[in-house]
Amino acid sequence: MENRILIVEDEVKIARFVELELLHEGYTAEKTGDGREGLEMALSGRFDLLILDIMLPGLNGVEVLRRLRKESEMPVIMLTARDAVMDKVSGLDAGADDYITKPFAIEELLARIRVALKRRSGNTGEKHIIEVGPVRLDSDRYEVTVNGEIVDLSNREFELLKLLMTNRNIVMNRETMINEVCGYDYVGETNIIDVYVRYLRTKIDDKYGIKFIQTVRGVGYIVKD
Ligand code: CA
Repeated sequence: MENRILIVEDEVKIARFVELELLHEGYTAEKTGDGREGLEMALSGRFDLLILDIMLPGLNGVEVLRRLRKESEMPVIMLTARDAVMDKVSGLDAGADDYITKPFAIEELLARIRVALKRRSGNTGEKHIIEVGPVRLDSDRYEVTVNGEIVDLSNREFELLKLLMTNRNIVMNRETMINEVCGYDYVGETNIIDVYVRYLRTKIDDKYGIKFIQTVRGVGYIVKD
């Protein structure tokens, strides 16, 4: 299930930009520019992570966080103005998981979101199961089943499948796939991903008569819901 992110930021341009980027990354996102409303939304339990600006109308970000922390342990990333050291300190004191200084590169925010979500799912001991169609991938047991039957995969096949399923409905390009599956220092053949995809297709698509891993010509591969 995709992660739902709440953005509480009164600078409309920033809020809109972040929202669009999150949607593009496959997250569900909602936004508000008001601190009080943001607190209410955050407390609704509908969100997995909160991006929280500090200077807000209604209720400032530090106060929103203080009140939220009485009831919720959801991950919070604070947005602070450049060099506002006091903001950072009071934000972290109030229980923020992380902060990012404006202006920020969206890639950095996305990276911190991934870390915060990962930390949280690790802490709660939540099951790491992804299901797409008849294919079920269990990261804890390192096991893949199709229609309940176990599929025997090598480590790299498993990691590649996990990457595609985690990012389902998003095209994965070969470079990203090589970095994630083989590591950033990989120096071997660039067609290695095509080779692993072929193995996976033999074991899943061909065997079960489904079209699971689809080719996006000239780009890479995608798994769709
Ligand atoms: Ca603001």
